[in-house]
Amino acid sequence: MNLDPWSLLKASFEGDDSGTAILSIDRSSKKFEIILKNENFAFLEKEIDLKEFLSQKINNSDYTTELIYKTNGKILETSFGKFQFPEGLKNKEYTKFFIKDITTKQRQEEEIAWRLRFELGVASSIQILIQQHSIREGLPQALYQLLYFTEMDSVFFLKYELEGEKDKFQIWANERKTTKYPLIPKKCENENWYDLGLGRWFHKLKNGKTIYLTPNKALPREKWFLTETKAEILLLIPVLFENKFLGIMGFLKYKKNSPIQHENLLIYQTVSRWMGLFVQRDLDLTELNRYKSSLESLVLERTLALTKTKEELERAYKAKTEFLAHMSHELRTPLNSIIGFSKLIQLPETDETGKEYLNYIYTGGTRLLNMINEILNLMKIESGQIKIQITTFRPEDICRQTLELIQPQANAKKMEIRFRPPIESKPVTSDSGKILQILLNLLSNAIKYTNHPYIELDCEWIDGSLEISVRDFGPGISIDDQNRIFHTFTRLNDDGNIEGTGLGLTISQGLAIRLGGTLELQSQLGQGSVFKLKLPEIIK
Ligand code: ADP
Repeated sequence: MNLDPWSLLKASFEGDDSGTAILSIDRSSKKFEIILKNENFAFLEKEIDLKEFLSQKINNSDYTTELIYKTNGKILETSFGKFQFPEGLKNKEYTKFFIKDITTKQRQEEEIAWRLRFELGVASSIQILIQQHSIREGLPQALYQLLYFTEMDSVFFLKYELEGEKDKFQIWANERKTTKYPLIPKKCENENWYDLGLGRWFHKLKNGKTIYLTPNKALPREKWFLTETKAEILLLIPVLFENKFLGIMGFLKYKKNSPIQHENLLIYQTVSRWMGLFVQRDLDLTELNRYKSSLESLVLERTLALTKTKEELERAYKAKTEFLAHMSHELRTPLNSIIGFSKLIQLPETDETGKEYLNYIYTGGTRLLNMINEILNLMKIESGQIKIQITTFRPEDICRQTLELIQPQANAKKMEIRFRPPIESKPVTSDSGKILQILLNLLSNAIKYTNHPYIELDCEWIDGSLEISVRDFGPGISIDDQNRIFHTFTRLNDDGNIEGTGLGLTISQGLAIRLGGTLELQSQLGQGSVFKLKLPEIIK
């Protein structure tokens, strides 16, 4: 094959993106000559004063890459390739020299860097808003942060408010890159925008539209705003939350002829969208706080009213207790006479009816006297007047005394009482009379309300406290009734056949508490009940 090296070299140059040339340089004289160039080079070399550029570079032996920013906006990159020394010619050298048009690439890189910067600004201002309790406090700082990262010079947020029928704005924030530019006019805050000649803007914004204006595009009646703010570009974006108009985000730019690119406009709109979220969050929080404080004052009010009612009730209750105690006492005296005399009246043997009536008087009177005594007892417990007589005794002795007293009632029902004294016999310091009264009541109930051949009375020491239980195998008491029966005048299945007042358990529980102990009930329907009196070893 017959190869022509020169044509081959020329062919290898064409089709390159960059302008490529081969330079021959004389090292001693610093003279240079372009011995070969491709089409692109021929095109691009016109953009610079190549001769001047190269002679400067070569004179300074500066073979670094250089960027040339041209006034028409173009950016060119010049660079050198590797150097070659031809055989035998020590002073001569060859190198490649490139010129590239990197305008687009450079613009893209700048764009990316700018966007990153902007996003950084957005992120950091969001961060500020998230950390603040109230958006109003954090907003100026957040917007200043945002502004710093944008091409804009001034930013403001106007919070929309509807006062009655009147549309109003409040300036929540107004930040500028430098104070040499004015703040936005105060009248935008209080006056109606229609009266200010800005009705068209207001209408559009309220309908979710963005306003992007330069002074020559503003209507004559709107121009004052741009003059007063010295703005060359005005950008107003509605701040919405779920279509509700919350306010306006405004941006001003003071530089002439530097329009905002469409992509950037979208970013500003995004910023306004998250502003909507924050403003709404702030409104919700304010609302919540309002509810909270009105709830607090309501609670306070109710508490005061309740305290008053409680005091009134306590006073009324005390008055009732005193009245009943007094009445009971007054009733007892005549009743005692009636019972006494009914026993003394002698009627002829033949007067059966008279005797029957006399018996009614006697039993009715006795029952009434019992009830009055119990009421008196209860009143004393409730008003704290009950007197406690403390002695030291063995609890099993009191149990035995009680058994003796209750025996006739048990015998009448042919019921056995099984008593288990404590394993360890030791004394208790308490009121024996009150314990006897409680046990009498519990045993009497167990006999009255059950029909099993026996009931049990257990006395034992458990963990240093005294436990006396009365167990029966009767009908038992339902869970619902278990609390109820300790209330005054509660009688379950009261059919009038069994005598009672419904006060016994109330009194017993009151006494147990007065002795520093408790009276508890465990019961299951159909299985029977256990009433357990727990008392401390020594009453405090
Ligand atoms: P009273 O015996 O005078 O009616 P209590 O206060 O002593 O009053 O008892 C309240 C009610 O509790 C009784 O009317 C009865 O219905 C129920 N009761 C009490 N003890 C028992 C028991 N051991 N078994 C079933 N029911 C009982």
